[in-house]
Amino acid sequence: MFNKRRSFIISVAGSLASGFALAQKPSQNLVLDSDPSAIALGYVSDVKKIDTNKFPQYALGQNCAVCTLFQGTAKDTDAPCLAFGGKAVTSKGWCSAWVKKG
Ligand code: SF4
Repeated sequence: MFNKRRSFIISVAGSLASGFALAQKPSQNLVLDSDPSAIALGYVSDVKKIDTNKFPQYALGQNCAVCTLFQGTAKDTDAPCLAFGGKAVTSKGWCSAWVKKG
């Protein structure tokens, strides 16, 4: 009895962990803030890291998720970006090529 219950709990925990890992798994081809192309466009993977002195055009509410060059849906945490040749950017990121999704 104890072993069956223990096995069940381990099985459920394993399923939840793998499901969470799949849901949170970042793209393999993610642009890094330190990539030369990212630096050139002022890309940051989180808008909280924007240097607004360097990029005064940034306005609150702008991020990759609402940029026309972001190739994902509203649910995606990352998706390919046309400005980076299809490499993925985070939905909460931003760069100086931002264009409001129409
Ligand atoms: Fe994000 Fe748009 Fe810049 Fe791509 S072009 S990194 S989607 S802000």
